[in-house]
Amino acid sequence: MKSKTYFFIFALIVFISPFFLPTYQVTLLNYIGLNALVVLGLVLVTGVGGMTTFGQAALVGIGGYATAYLTVTEQLPSFLAWTGGNPWFGLLLGIVITVASAILVGGLTLKLSGHYLPLGTIAWGISLYYFFSTIETLGGHSGISNIPSISIAGFAFDNGNKMFYLIWLIVFIAIILTKNLLNSREGRAIRALKGGQVMAESMGVNTFRAKMIIFVIAAIFASISGWLYAHTQTFINPTPFGLQMGIDYLFMALLGGVGSIWGAILGAGIFTMVRQWLQDALPIIFGGQGHYETIVFGLIIVVLMQKAPSGIWSFITKLIPNKYKPVDLYPSIHPIPQMDKVENQINKGELILDAKNITKKFGGLVANNEMNLKIHAGEVLALIGPNGAGKSTMFNQISGVDVPTSGEVLFKGKKINGIPSREIAKLGLSRTFQHVKILPEMTVLENTAIGAHLRGEKSVISSMLLLDRVEENELLNEAKYQLERVGLGEYLYVEAGSLALGQQRILEIARALCANPSLLLLDEPAAGLRFKEKQALAELLSKLRAEGMAILLVEHDMDFVMNLADRIVVMEFGQKIAEGLPEEIQKNEAVLEAYLGGAA
Ligand code: ADP
Ligand code: MG
Repeated sequence: MKSKTYFFIFALIVFISPFFLPTYQVTLLNYIGLNALVVLGLVLVTGVGGMTTFGQAALVGIGGYATAYLTVTEQLPSFLAWTGGNPWFGLLLGIVITVASAILVGGLTLKLSGHYLPLGTIAWGISLYYFFSTIETLGGHSGISNIPSISIAGFAFDNGNKMFYLIWLIVFIAIILTKNLLNSREGRAIRALKGGQVMAESMGVNTFRAKMIIFVIAAIFASISGWLYAHTQTFINPTPFGLQMGIDYLFMALLGGVGSIWGAILGAGIFTMVRQWLQDALPIIFGGQGHYETIVFGLIIVVLMQKAPSGIWSFITKLIPNKYKPVDLYPSIHPIPQMDKVENQINKGELILDAKNITKKFGGLVANNEMNLKIHAGEVLALIGPNGAGKSTMFNQISGVDVPTSGEVLFKGKKINGIPSREIAKLGLSRTFQHVKILPEMTVLENTAIGAHLRGEKSVISSMLLLDRVEENELLNEAKYQLERVGLGEYLYVEAGSLALGQQRILEIARALCANPSLLLLDEPAAGLRFKEKQALAELLSKLRAEGMAILLVEHDMDFVMNLADRIVVMEFGQKIAEGLPEEIQKNEAVLEAYLGGAA
């Protein structure tokens, strides 16, 4: 069955459930929906983006307090008076403030790696909590009550059952928008954040921007949840927006499965219900008043993390027989004429890359020492040398993955050392990696399409609203064409991680080709390939060369190199020890010495 069908069945069940359920269970479902909306944001930020944040509860608080303040305060300051205390402006105000604060916190922490983001969000959560508790206009500890209901065209959502529909309608819309986003060009960039940032940057993705996008979207979801919460409860106080709740949201995400949209719903559902049951049942068992549920919950989480580390959702999907598993509709790719070549090509024979006196030091180790390289359009230059000679380091200096200690890299006459790799990618340089950098859980097609990132321009909002489908079709079509060209045409919908290592290298070449580069950097492309595959690769590279592409190649397979390369540069201990035509290199004394350890 298609996942869309499952979605509609689930939505239908949810929407008719108030007809069967007693009011208190509808109320419980309301809280599940409110929590699910926040956790959906966490799926994006934590599950997909790999960033841990404890700050969502505070953002929910902003959404709640903004609307409570706006709709309850009698004498609004003049710059807000025009809103007339309408809840819809309350929603808007909440979103504006949460987005601004997400940009502020994100701007300060997202560029830093490691623990800065979680710590930053904790600090942020705590300070907002105290802000809510102390500000007099916000009612201090007792909060704000008598919050009016939301109404649309005279229809008031003035009880739990009516709010139920508004809450779940918004949850379902959020699910659809999130799903659409993840299945788009921007979505692929976002999915590359966890474990593929260096690669994504090399393909032209601005990873900081991608992080900011999901951070802001999650903040908006949280803010809307706060808005709904305030108008469902009709009163708010600071308690549900404290750090404890920030942790609870993360619990929900982990419980359900932080990597998947349905995990978010499931996690929110189970957490909210179990907590309710425990709150009701434990005092009866143990007597007295105490936060037993917190202790029991902690234990449950520990056990669960052991048994189902990727959450209950993925645990369940493993149990479902294959034929009942939801299948995602693969993007139907309509054949189109080849995408217009980007204006990257330059005339054959023209100097395209000029690396001058590149030195790279890692502490005391000189990995590249005064290296010089020139590459021309329509030429295959091979860079060879023993392991540890500094070849990959040289690649990183040229492609902007790393910055040379000294020296200069000119690409098409423009100095590129020191500028980020995504900017270099824009100029027409594309690369593969010695240690393959693919996203193992994404399909081969999607992995490859990341290479075409710079050839699309549709925004996040158009992706969410599916206004990007023509462009998306073009990009996927380009990815498919390049995959067929490198001989991986039959693996389009296979998870990239299940390919053999040699095929993964070839995938990287297809991905690099999607960018339509004028200079292609290949780090050991033939490693792990069988003889026939090597032949096919050599043929492909010769064809690309004939089209005018410049290729810089690191490779250990000497037959491969000698047959393909126009010129060869040999490195040892970070230095160039020889340069010339293949037949010259084969006879070169210094080279023989380096390779045979002086036995020659
Ligand atoms: P090759 O690709 O020719 O095998 P590399 O460029 O990978 O060689 O490495 C050259 C030298 O630089 C090696 O001694 C390696 O250990 C060192 N090196 C490479 N990258 C780093 C790094 N990020 N930090 C420290 N040392 C490094
Ligand atoms: Mg290397």
